[in-house]
Amino acid sequence: MQSGQFQFQESWGSTIAKIIGSNVVNSEEFDHTVRMWVLEEIIGERKLTEIINTEHENPKYLPGHKLPHNVARRQQKVKILKGGVDFLEELYVQYTWYLKQAWEGEFLLALELAVADLLETVTGADILVFVVPHQFIRNICKQLKDHLTPTTIGVSLIKGIDEGPSGLKLISDIIREELSIDMSVLMGANIASEVADGKFCETTIGSKNKQNGMLLKNLMQTPNFRIAVVEDADTVEICGALKNIVAVGAGFCDGMGYGDNTKAAVIRLGLMEMIAFAKLFCRGAVQSATFLESCGVADLITTCYGGRNRRVAEAFARSGKSIEELEKELLNGQKLQGPQTAAELYRILQTQNSIDKFPLFMGVYQVCYEGKPVHDFIACLQSHPEHL
Ligand code: NAD
Ligand code: 13P
Ligand code: CA
Repeated sequence: MQSGQFQFQESWGSTIAKIIGSNVVNSEEFDHTVRMWVLEEIIGERKLTEIINTEHENPKYLPGHKLPHNVARRQQKVKILKGGVDFLEELYVQYTWYLKQAWEGEFLLALELAVADLLETVTGADILVFVVPHQFIRNICKQLKDHLTPTTIGVSLIKGIDEGPSGLKLISDIIREELSIDMSVLMGANIASEVADGKFCETTIGSKNKQNGMLLKNLMQTPNFRIAVVEDADTVEICGALKNIVAVGAGFCDGMGYGDNTKAAVIRLGLMEMIAFAKLFCRGAVQSATFLESCGVADLITTCYGGRNRRVAEAFARSGKSIEELEKELLNGQKLQGPQTAAELYRILQTQNSIDKFPLFMGVYQVCYEGKPVHDFIACLQSHPEHL
């Protein structure tokens, strides 16, 4: 695709809110309320939260899909006294039609609140689903620290990694350490626009706590979103993060006009590097079977054909514009995960003297950040340890 042509792809956060909202609405197992934190933005002249609360749609990140009415809804007992209406009006501006009546007494009102206040969103929550671009998670954790009940559990849908003083830091590790809650992950071949359309796909939950893994499966599985639960959670998360780097490499090849054989080679070599990285850096045993789950081979394939990382990398190879420029130009506020993950990986591998073992990952890093010509990317693969 030429840069400048805009093909919209949806975001994952609103998509999973849609799934969870419809799953719990009549559930006997789960509370029926799903509160959704939204980073406030002004769309036209309106607040994004206000649009979501009144129109049940996220027009920027999931346009054309209605969110179930229990998403962003909270039942609250409100005592209305005559004369107290102004105060309530101020609090719940968008619900003034309830309040204009100037009733007196106690009412159970459904207050539609997609909430811009992070702490208000998590208060009393039993399950937290983390879905933001990985570059923002530390800041979110900082705000949540010391505000959760210890029985709260979390699941991260965030594909990315970070670095700590001792090398690799998984996003779930950051959340677990900052917030002291049990963490699982969900990763798979799940391009959000297709999932939101209800097209059949699979995904993988990685959970060290089997009971929590099954609970999360019940929360999110639908007839067209099939979930396998595995205990090898670190490998699941590493797959989700690293496939984005491979997709950038696949996009380079598309942009340079290579064909399907080249892309298949990139996918295979990328998979071999993902396995090698997991074996080097995972704390526990790495199960080969995990790479055959949706989070492994399947997510690699879908992202290398249909993802945003691939698309921006293709435009990069064709246009010569920078990745940052193209991210802004093509993604309408969405964020790329692949290039930054390649940079994080580079720093981790450098401290371990392991750069030479990962020519594909490092080729992507050098093209994105060190000015290596994109045409040299194939040369990185020609001397791959797989062929020696
Ligand atoms: P995105 O890349 O579309 O980015 C937009 C989102 O980022 C919006 O919700 C916006 O509010 C939020 N955001 C922007 N600035 C922020 C800030 N400063 N702090 C917090 N949030 C901010 O988001 P996405 O597609 O939902 O991706 C989130 C994670 O889910 C990523 O790790 C991604 O790899 C993963 N994921 C995405 C898809 C997909 O198809 N979109 C599928 C599976 C997994
Ligand atoms: P992109 O971020 O490249 O669109 O990948 C989405 C994804 O993770 C699909 O599973
Ligand atoms: Ca509760």
